[in-house]
Amino acid sequence: MITDVHFHASRKSEYGRHYQLALKKLNQIVDHINANYSKIDLLVDIGDLVDSDPARNTQKPLAVLDRLADIEKVHLLGNHDYGCVAPSEIDQLHALYYKMSSRYSSKIVNNDRLKLIFLDSNDISTYGATGSKKQTAVEEIAKLERAKQNNARDYNGGIGTQQLAWLKQELHESCIENHSHQRVLIFLHDALLPIGNAMLLFNSQDVLDLIASFDNCVLSVFSGHVHDFHEGQQLTRSDPIPVLTLGGIVQSPFQSYGFCDVYHHHEDPTMTTLHVHGLDFGHQIDLTYSSRYRYLGGGGVDGVEKEENLSERRLNLRIDTTTPFDDGFQFDTVIPNVVTILAILILLRSLKRYVKKKMFLCFPSYTSSFYFIPIKTLNRKKVVSNELIEKL
Ligand SMILES: [Zn+2]
Repeated sequence: MITDVHFHASRKSEYGRHYQLALKKLNQIVDHINANYSKIDLLVDIGDLVDSDPARNTQKPLAVLDRLADIEKVHLLGNHDYGCVAPSEIDQLHALYYKMSSRYSSKIVNNDRLKLIFLDSNDISTYGATGSKKQTAVEEIAKLERAKQNNARDYNGGIGTQQLAWLKQELHESCIENHSHQRVLIFLHDALLPIGNAMLLFNSQDVLDLIASFDNCVLSVFSGHVHDFHEGQQLTRSDPIPVLTLGGIVQSPFQSYGFCDVYHHHEDPTMTTLHVHGLDFGHQIDLTYSSRYRYLGGGGVDGVEKEENLSERRLNLRIDTTTPFDDGFQFDTVIPNVVTILAILILLRSLKRYVKKKMFLCFPSYTSSFYFIPIKTLNRKKVVSNELIEKL
């Protein structure tokens, strides 16, 4: 899984986004997969492959992904993928650049044991929809503004009623009608959690409620858009379905991507283990989640009493902060730089009486450019540690 590459041929770094590194990092991921993995079924691009203007910018990242010759690719689109696209071109965008046959779809793999659902979070949006759906997005943003919701932003989107009904049907087929213990993974660009985040899907709560009502078989939800890793709040108190937001490739000088392995237990066909691993801004992520399929019976979710056997559900998240860097940038090479800079500063301070005052005016800009990376990273480590403490 990759997300938020934001490739742009001419943009420089700004807002912590490293546009010039995006293609290099994508190439690294492809090299890593080609060198280390003999079998990967699918690559899922969770959206924002380009920063804007797909007519100019899709060709290069897609050519990099083509180096994964034997791996099928699925592209979800994000808000940035619609940048500089005229309303009349929106309908063609998906097929033209991403070879998509429809805006949302599902795919059954692993001998009928696993269903992958790919949602379109631009369905109701001001940038990726036209006509009544665009108007609905305008009204939705106004409604969220009145309710003082943080996600009342025109770069977010929503899932329309038709798509929501389709999702319910897809979940019903897997979780109720299918008797082969089929499990479900859901992918969408906009985030569903954490509550209060500015990047949430307009109707994230509707989608969460729907997924929670099929918690007997949904294994996990993956999204992007936020550009930072979140292991969202537990979907329900009793069922800790991982709702994960992956780190954006563009949003750091360090690497981000995720692998998702699904193990169906031979000795117990109702048991499935999910293993999510990868990097978030160079930090190693390692999450395992085991859960048992629970047959709800009765042909429907509503009014059916669920079998409450949650003792088999286990969620274990580990983020390794001791090896925080990839991308050839080692922590132990940072320390001497900082020490050297401090030594120079102390030396220059001791010479203060001998030099002109204006020389010291250079210090703030000089030091901030060197300190930017380590300070940002140390802050990141603190956030991760807090998450880990909360988990424990
Ligand atoms: Zn993005």
